[in-house]
This record gives sequence, structure tokens and C-alpha cells, in this order.
Amino acid sequence: MKKTDNPRRKTRLLHVARSVRMTPNMQRVTLGGSDLADFPGEQESAHIKLFLPEAGQSSEEFGRQVQSGSKAITRRTYTVRHHRPDALELDIDFVVHEGGGPACDWALRAGPGDIIGVAGPGPIKAPDRESDWFLFGADMAAIPAAAAALEALPQDAVGHAVFEITSDDDIQPVSAPPGIMIHWLVHEDPHVSSAQQLEFFRTLDWPTGQPGVFVAGESGAVAGLRSYLIKERGLDKRKMYISAYWKIGLIEDQHQIEKNAEAA
Ligand SMILES: Cc1cc2nc3c(=O)[nH]c(=O)nc-3n(C[C@H](O)[C@H](O)[C@H](O)COP(=O)(O)OP(=O)(O)OC[C@H]3O[C@@H](n4cnc5c(N)ncnc54)[C@H](O)[C@@H]3O)c2cc1C
Repeated sequence: MKKTDNPRRKTRLLHVARSVRMTPNMQRVTLGGSDLADFPGEQESAHIKLFLPEAGQSSEEFGRQVQSGSKAITRRTYTVRHHRPDALELDIDFVVHEGGGPACDWALRAGPGDIIGVAGPGPIKAPDRESDWFLFGADMAAIPAAAAALEALPQDAVGHAVFEITSDDDIQPVSAPPGIMIHWLVHEDPHVSSAQQLEFFRTLDWPTGQPGVFVAGESGAVAGLRSYLIKERGLDKRKMYISAYWKIGLIEDQHQIEKNAEAA
């Protein structure tokens, strides 16, 4: 493990405590280990970087690779869905996507005792809490962050959340405040960009006042929602959390390069 005093900058070696298929297209992997003892609290919705072992790589060899700070390790970005400090556990929810990828494949083969590297957490993801009402849009990759952000809102919060899932059976429990109405939309083929959330936002009877916005998911869908909210609705982009979490046809590293180039 890299030596640092800042617990957010440590790379921790954790083990798989258990792994369950939560819904047809979502695998929940629970990670544990004494390295979580100084993991910052109340960071549900924050992202973490996963350092993934290769299939068949021994725990000893992977542990050495992580400790040496090797740049060759495959990394992917995921979300802290639940953190149970007393039990030293984190739940990470992985979309099971057709064609797979190093992270998706790792989650599907992960079994108790397997190890993984975890860096972070980054900042929590949240809409402006001073808002009059809240508007959430997320696909399956962003549901872990959106659900955690909803669960952190005050109990008297009101508004709408639209969650796009691959099948009806991918509906999952979310403990949102009672005044937040959750709308589940089915989009069967995630490899085709969806305009359903945009259509929902357009046809929604908008409550009065300023909404606190959380939008994340597939790049094309997020671009349409961002344009609508800023250009057509005139919302202040500095007061919203809007982020492309993945892009059809690109692995995460390529998507990150594209996002950095756009931001430059
Ligand atoms: C801040 C942040 C938080 C995130 N949190 C989560 C999370 O909690 N859970 C989660 O599942 N994802 C999350 N993601 C998205 C995740 O990082 C990407 O989906 C990542 O590409 C998955 O890595 P992979 O190795 O499985 O696939 P990659 O090797 O990156 O990609 C392989 C192929 O799969 C496609 N692909 C990638 N993701 C999906 C998908 N969701 N559906 C369909 N096809 C896909 C790619 O376009 C590519 O063609 C988050 C992303 C960010 C930026």
C-alpha cells in the first residue's frame, strides 16, 4: 500500500466478503478488510477507483503490484453505495453489461476472499441542498450514486427521480424521502443512447422554484439533458451535478481522455 497520511489518497487492499446478483443486471459486491478502518465516513455517493487484478492472477502477486504503485493495473471508477464502518464493509454495485469489461467481468467472477485495490473516496455527489425541489435522472451505472444522494436528502425534500433500467426486474429499493416520486423507465438496449429521460423532463409538470439537479449516466443521454436544462430551462450549471459516467463503444480510459479534452 502507498504510504500517505491522507486517507482519501491511500490505496487500500480489500477482500470480497460476498457477492450477490441484486437484480438481473446489477451485481452487488461487498468489500471488507482492516484497511477500511480509516475510510472516511458518510461518503455514500462518492466515487472510488478500483484497481483490478487480472483473471487468474494470484493474490500475492496482485498485492505486490498494488504496493509497488504499478501503473500497469487496470483501474475503473465506481461508487460507494453503502459503507458500514462498524463492520468494515463497503457495498459496490456493478452494472452487468453485455460484452463486459475488466470491472464488470471481475465483479461476475468475484468470490469471498478475492482481493482488489481501492483508492479514494472522491467528493460526494449531491444536488444543491438549498433548492426548492429536486430533479434526478440516472441510468443503471449512476443509480448507486443517485440513490445514495437521494437517501442523504432531508426527509421533507420533494421532487422527482427518473431511473432508466434495462428490465422491469431491475427496480431496486431506494429509501428516498417520501416527497420524492421515483419513476422507473425501461430501456432494454443500453448500447443505444436513450432520449427517454429527456422526454420525461420535457413533459414533467415542473413545480415552482429552483430545482436541485442530479444527472448522470451514458454520455449521449447526459449531453441531451445538460443542453435542455441549461439552454432551454436556463438553470445555472454551477448549481447542478451533471456527469457522463460512461460512453457507448469506449472503454473508461478512452472516455476519460475524451472528457479531459472537452474540458480543456
Ligand atoms: C463518478 C463515476 C461513478 C461510477 N459509478 C458506477 C457504479 O457505481 N456502478 C457502475 O456499474 N458503473 C459506475 N460508473 C461507470 C463505470 O465506471 C463504467 O461503466 C466503466 O466503463 C465500467 O468498466 P468496465 O471495465 O466494465 O467496462 P469498460 O472496459 O470501461 O468498457 C467496455 C465496453 O463496455 C461498455 N460499457 C461500459 N459501461 C457500460 C454500461 N454501464 N452499460 C453498457 N455498456 C457499458 C463500454 O462502452 C465499452 O464498449 C461510474 C462512473 C463514474 C465516472
